[in-house]
Amino acid sequence: MSLTEFGLIEKYFAAPAARQLSAAANNALKLGVGDDCALLSPRAGHELAISTDMLIEGRHFLSSVDASLLGHKALAVNLSDLAACGAKPLAFTLGMALPEAKADWLEKFSQGLFALANEHRITLIGGDTTKSVQPDRVSAGPICLSITVIGEVPAGAALLRSGAQVGDGVYVSGSLGDARLALGQFLNEWHLSEASFAQVRKRMEQPTPRVALGEALRGLATSAIDVSDGFLGDLRHILTRSQVGAKINAEALPRSEVMRRESLSRQRLCTLAGGDDYELIFTAPAAKADRVAAAAAKTGTPITRVGEIIAGTALVLHDEAGQLIETAFPSFDHFA
Ligand code: ADP
Ligand code: MG
Repeated sequence: MSLTEFGLIEKYFAAPAARQLSAAANNALKLGVGDDCALLSPRAGHELAISTDMLIEGRHFLSSVDASLLGHKALAVNLSDLAACGAKPLAFTLGMALPEAKADWLEKFSQGLFALANEHRITLIGGDTTKSVQPDRVSAGPICLSITVIGEVPAGAALLRSGAQVGDGVYVSGSLGDARLALGQFLNEWHLSEASFAQVRKRMEQPTPRVALGEALRGLATSAIDVSDGFLGDLRHILTRSQVGAKINAEALPRSEVMRRESLSRQRLCTLAGGDDYELIFTAPAAKADRVAAAAAKTGTPITRVGEIIAGTALVLHDEAGQLIETAFPSFDHFA
């Protein structure tokens, strides 16, 4: 039996969203999927945090990727933006352009998407579904996914890129570069052992958004950003918006066991310039270092201090011995 547009929406998106409604841990949601708009009622004294990220087949993911992992990742990269603002996720919308309606693909995609939504006790409140075609109006177009997440944050408490102060420590959650290490294998840049590849591939295909850490850092971190385009490029956004510089120990950047077995030059390429990690970079004053450590411990998130904010605008990289490291790693730019 072929799927109609509305049959598809109902079966794979509206019905699971309705089932999840009661599990959603917030009563902000007044009306979900099915009408012309969804209705949200933010709590008094709170602001809504809203962010959109798109995933395009061939650009952000390989056509061969498992659809349930894609469902996970499409939502995870959006939740990561809420995490970087210290916002608590409430709900999300999903825009989809698909070349065809394949039941097994939709089943898996929906399952991966709703599994992560369930973990964060949020649900899908609406979206749009269309067919993806080339400009000739006949040939199949790529899969395009666009999710908008909506979160809430106490008024004035959102973590921004602009608050870093001279003397603040610079911290990173989790570990950096594994997604880039996996991508290199897909691109035939290098070859990893089967076990190593399996581990880093999971980091690339199923990233963990650091939502609990982001919320716990409210009132402690002076700035934050999530690492989507690479450590150096994303840290640079904080420096630019905060009008400060940073001194970073490249050897202090947190690395997985798998990463530590790689050559130093490959470690640097992956940790400094690798995208798709979805860890948080944040800054916090030295006086709050203990509370920052406690917040990280409470949320079960490893964090590492990798350097500090300095006056000026330079991003100074050095090694363990204090020797300057010259880098020319570009951060990811879609139009470069
Ligand atoms: P409209 O014509 O007003 O754009 P649609 O017919 O596109 O509405 O959608 C009908 C309902 O289904 C709306 O409530 C919309 O939010 C929802 N919807 C459509 N596509 C999706 C999707 N991919 N995920 C969740 N809800 C969707
Ligand atoms: Mg519509």
